[in-house]
Amino acid sequence: MKELQQENKECLTVLKPVLDAVIKRNPNEPEFHQAVTEVLETLEPVAEKHPEWVAAGIFDRIVEPERQIIFRVPWVDDKGKVQVNRGFRVQFNSAIGPYKGGIRLHPSVNISIMKFLGFEQIFKNSLTGLPIGGGKGGSDFDPKGKSDGEVMRFCQSFMTELAKHIGADTDVPAGDIGTGAREIGYMFGQYKRLRNEFTGVLTGKGLEWGGSLARTQATGYGLCYFMEAAMNDHGDSFKGKTVVVSGSGNVATYAVEKATQLGAKVVAMSDSGGYVYDAEGIDLKAIKEIKEVKRARISEYVNYRPNAVYTPGCKGIWTIKCDVALPCATQNEIDGESAQILIDNGCRIVGEGANMPSTPEAIAIFQSNGALFGPAKAANAGGVATSALEMSQNSMRYSWTFDEVDNKLHDIMVNIYKNISKAAADYGMKGNLVAGANIAGFEKVAKAMYAQGIAY
Ligand code: NDP
Repeated sequence: MKELQQENKECLTVLKPVLDAVIKRNPNEPEFHQAVTEVLETLEPVAEKHPEWVAAGIFDRIVEPERQIIFRVPWVDDKGKVQVNRGFRVQFNSAIGPYKGGIRLHPSVNISIMKFLGFEQIFKNSLTGLPIGGGKGGSDFDPKGKSDGEVMRFCQSFMTELAKHIGADTDVPAGDIGTGAREIGYMFGQYKRLRNEFTGVLTGKGLEWGGSLARTQATGYGLCYFMEAAMNDHGDSFKGKTVVVSGSGNVATYAVEKATQLGAKVVAMSDSGGYVYDAEGIDLKAIKEIKEVKRARISEYVNYRPNAVYTPGCKGIWTIKCDVALPCATQNEIDGESAQILIDNGCRIVGEGANMPSTPEAIAIFQSNGALFGPAKAANAGGVATSALEMSQNSMRYSWTFDEVDNKLHDIMVNIYKNISKAAADYGMKGNLVAGANIAGFEKVAKAMYAQGIAY
């Protein structure tokens, strides 16, 4: 990956000093370097077209978070022992609206991962067309294997500090890996108690207390709406396709549901332990029971479907023959080798449900083989878009029906596809949705930053 980043750096001219400064100023942050490299590489023609943005330092400023908060999260486990985790909130860019981005609870969380996610979020949020800035947060706390009481005490401690930095008009966090409805509930309860106010400070809330219908489904459904629009544009669709979806969390589950509704057959899903292959098509009811009700491992799937096969280890899922691959687990889960296997097996359609699931080598392989490649910032923007719809409903003290939200989500995803295709074509890179997403997302934020002066 290092070699590829070096190569990319070499194709930069106007923006090379910006990337050099990011790498120098943020040592030991490989994921952040990777995300910035990918974006700057595609923004070179934008910098050439807009010398006024270069002169105003827009590129230098957009790669530096407005604020980074790192804090101690002490809590007491069920044995009475004090545990200490580290909490993060990266408030990356507020040019077009309050910071918005999820909270990730996973042992791998560190500042590099927070910054890569917060940086990506700026452009993704911009692409939704809604007024939301970019941010991200989380902790190295692992909710897996913890009791409800332990998760609650952690969430309350986490929010005790976070509450000082967020607010319905300032920064509105949401869920991400490890943060589902239970965690959002505990965090919201603590915020309300500390502030004595009932506001839409978090999204992904329960339906009884300010949540939006269709938020749970939004990222997975949105991914399929986006990919369906992209396929339709090429005279194709999900109908009759064989699909592989990695992960079995929130995004993966609803991607499988919508892809199936659109006529595809999903034959494999995974978790961090391994993957299941079910030639007859994944039984999503079984997956939901294993993951959402029992909070168990996907290996249990074979107890529900004896003809299915479980294989330990995650990477092998990409060796399964498919027409469409939807990586919905985590960053860098498809490397160059896996991408090549997918291509060799005839897969020509890839939609990123997770954030940055494909390494730069993998993206290069997909693109050089003419695959239809939907990058995360565009393809998985449905979650945050629906979070913004939740914010609107909270502000209005009103709730839309499931269909109203779902229709808006559908329109947003189709528009994102149209806008990024157009941006790619306008800059002479027709069909390059990676470039299109970066350019369309960036231009809106750049205009806002330019208008607001150097203080931002
Ligand atoms: P969940 O925690 O609900 O699910 C994550 C899934 O990915 C689980 O099946 C998990 O398995 C698996 N996974 C996690 N880490 C690894 C790993 N290192 N290797 C293999 N599998 C792994 O998270 P979400 O579904 O919410 O998020 C998935 C991805 O989508 C993330 O990249 C997230 O940032 C992104 N995303 C999420 C949005 C949302 O609305 N939720 C919005 C936009 C993007 P296990 O249970 O074993 O850990």
